[in-house]
Amino acid sequence: MEGFETRAIHAGQAPDPTTGAVMPPIYATSTFAQDGVGGLRGGYEYSRSANPTRTALEECIAALEEGRRGLAFASGMAAEDTLLRTVLKPGDHVVIPNDAYGGTYRLISKVVERWGVSWTAVPVSDVDAVRQAIRPETAVVWVETPTNPLLNIADIAALAQVTHDAGALLVVDNTFATPYLQQPLTLGADVVVHSTTKYCGGHSDVVGGALVVGDPTLGDQLAFHQNAIGAVAGPFDAWLVLRGLKTLAIRMERHCDNAERVVEALGRHPQVSEILYPGLDSHPGHDVARRQMRRFGGMVSFRVAGGENAAVEVCNRAQVFTLGESLGGVESLIEHPGRMTHASAAGSVLEVPNDLVRLSVGIESVDDLLADLDQALKHAT
Ligand SMILES: *Cc1c(COP(=O)(O)O)cnc(C)c1O
Repeated sequence: MEGFETRAIHAGQAPDPTTGAVMPPIYATSTFAQDGVGGLRGGYEYSRSANPTRTALEECIAALEEGRRGLAFASGMAAEDTLLRTVLKPGDHVVIPNDAYGGTYRLISKVVERWGVSWTAVPVSDVDAVRQAIRPETAVVWVETPTNPLLNIADIAALAQVTHDAGALLVVDNTFATPYLQQPLTLGADVVVHSTTKYCGGHSDVVGGALVVGDPTLGDQLAFHQNAIGAVAGPFDAWLVLRGLKTLAIRMERHCDNAERVVEALGRHPQVSEILYPGLDSHPGHDVARRQMRRFGGMVSFRVAGGENAAVEVCNRAQVFTLGESLGGVESLIEHPGRMTHASAAGSVLEVPNDLVRLSVGIESVDDLLADLDQALKHAT
């Protein structure tokens, strides 16, 4: 199957052999009857190890990322934890973005570090900074692109080179871009991480995570740890993500269309002092983004001229944009990273400007989104 949209709808999802059901059933079962001791039907034994609904999702997301093996987890953090415990050992070192997703930063700095792993936070948009941060014991270079909430861009192909020269693994958290906009494995990354809670699920109705790799040996090691640790996606959650993936392409196109219109309108607004969006010519990562992404995504951040209080007011006054954390659903969300998603980063290397507002631009009628931002900005300043 060649086309992305075709894979999204069919990969891992042949009609059910017994009934012809077009959608993979939700296999709500913990165990599977065996035909004599060890006689497994289709390899299924116990649902922590494998469940057919989860298998369908794992095959679909692997196909979308052009990887060889996909694995689905109970959350993005569960996927990250399983990955780090698979590839790290005490004494190892990790390079992470200095504007990493807060949960990733917390996992590495507060949990993984206690097991004897050290880390260095650097701006991953700067290839030289990453090269300089790498040590002989560096096992993983962890990248997000675009980053959250500053929407910085990392050059995946260049970082793959630097990382592989050092004998380390390049991990790309592809949650913001999704496989529709960017396929890190094809650019040289070793592992793709997803919070499927966001665009992959796409409807703000499920928490989930996934890993995709190209190397089958690493895939087997991850599958061993997925089963050994047990933070798997349940069958209903796997089914919801699988359903979301079917419309990923058309949703992303509309997210991008609407985000571009929002950026254009904010650019003309006197109360907006700066817009962070990789689609803008003025964005420092624009050329790299143009090379490695199909379009520039649905996330937009901007700074409000009136400072922190005005930025908070914009969030409070928005009506069509729902005030809330998370991102990537069909509905538009607005938030103040400094006091919400990134509050725990205050005083750390991950601190964000206090006049920053982050939008997850949804797929509603764009005129309603523009009018809402206009009224919120007008009243706030
Ligand atoms: C949300 C998110 C995660 C964590 O995923 P959960 O599903 O919330 O556990 C990781 N990375 C990024 C970029 C995210 O946005």
